[in-house]
Amino acid sequence: MPDCVFCKIRDGEVPAKFEYRDEHTMVFHDLNPVAPHHLLVVPNKCIRSVNEVDDEAAQELGYMFAAAARVARQLGFEQEGYRCVVNTGRGAGQIVMHLHMHLLAGRLLEWPPG
Ligand code: AMP
Repeated sequence: MPDCVFCKIRDGEVPAKFEYRDEHTMVFHDLNPVAPHHLLVVPNKCIRSVNEVDDEAAQELGYMFAAAARVARQLGFEQEGYRCVVNTGRGAGQIVMHLHMHLLAGRLLEWPPG
């Protein structure tokens, strides 16, 4: 997608602080963190949202969770607990239309979320 900021990060046109990346997935720090640890787990492939996940795209979700677990271990918050959030659509607060999982940790994460 030409105007997609996460595509630009993937292609090196916009800077980001990466914690992990491979041929399927990238994990970088959110620009506006809402928790002490706030990362974005993003498939390299530009799937717009969960609404576009079909059987083929479903593979990317597995890679995203594997990358999330890897970074949770890497940054040392896998035992204290963390939250994986995927906003879908405007009503849920999705702003960037390139599928992504927020990985949040380092503070008490209340339930239900806002
Ligand atoms: P969402 O509201 O679920 O679409 O989340 C989009 C997230 O992307 C927000 O938390 C933004 O702070 C974050 N974001 C937007 N642009 C950038 C960027 N250039 N680098 C890192 N994070 C970004």
